[in-house]
Amino acid sequence: MQGAGKGTQGTIMAKKYNLAIFDTGAQLRALIQTDSLLAEKVKLIMNAGKLVPNEVVMELIENFMEANKSGGILFDGLPRNKEQEESFNSLISKHSRNLKGIYIDLSHEEAVKRLLGRRMCEKCKSIYPIAYSNDNCEKCGGNLVTRPDDNLDSIKTRLDTFKKETLPVIENYEKAGILTRIDGQQSIEKVSEDIFQALGKCF
Ligand code: AMP
Repeated sequence: MQGAGKGTQGTIMAKKYNLAIFDTGAQLRALIQTDSLLAEKVKLIMNAGKLVPNEVVMELIENFMEANKSGGILFDGLPRNKEQEESFNSLISKHSRNLKGIYIDLSHEEAVKRLLGRRMCEKCKSIYPIAYSNDNCEKCGGNLVTRPDDNLDSIKTRLDTFKKETLPVIENYEKAGILTRIDGQQSIEKVSEDIFQALGKCF
């Protein structure tokens, strides 16, 4: 769920298990920095808090999987709707990979509070949670600013879309026994511990 700390936890897990990270939001934010019609279109969609068209997302994933044929991959932020679920499952089969899902759950109120309070580095686009009090990025020294899509209207659209389109995907994976639900209301350390426990059996 948005604001639950999936980026933070993804970085921790990738380091521990030596995984390549495919962060969908970050890949799309890199795409909109390019000078193209597609970039302009995707930027408008993202700032409004809507889902980027599936074919754009699936092409990025396919390219990433082709470039990372060996070693594990951590996919952050997908699949987010039924169509992506089907395409993603096909890609997983095509590449003969095993899939294990983690969903970090959070209340609606807490998600809004965290999304409104977090900031992004202007230069390298790293995301900093509400608890980070410094005004500069610890990686590159860039200024921290509010992400263009972290405004109330966009947050509302994203959380509504999550409920309508993404939750059913989570429930499907849960029914298939390949997804573990984690309480995102806990400390970063405790969330990591719970994820390690869930993933421990896979590595
Ligand atoms: P995130 O960084 O995960 O909060 O994602 C930021 C934005 O990127 C979302 O609000 C969407 O506009 C877009 N996005 C991220 N993941 C996906 C996805 N799997 N499918 C479509 N759009 C996505």
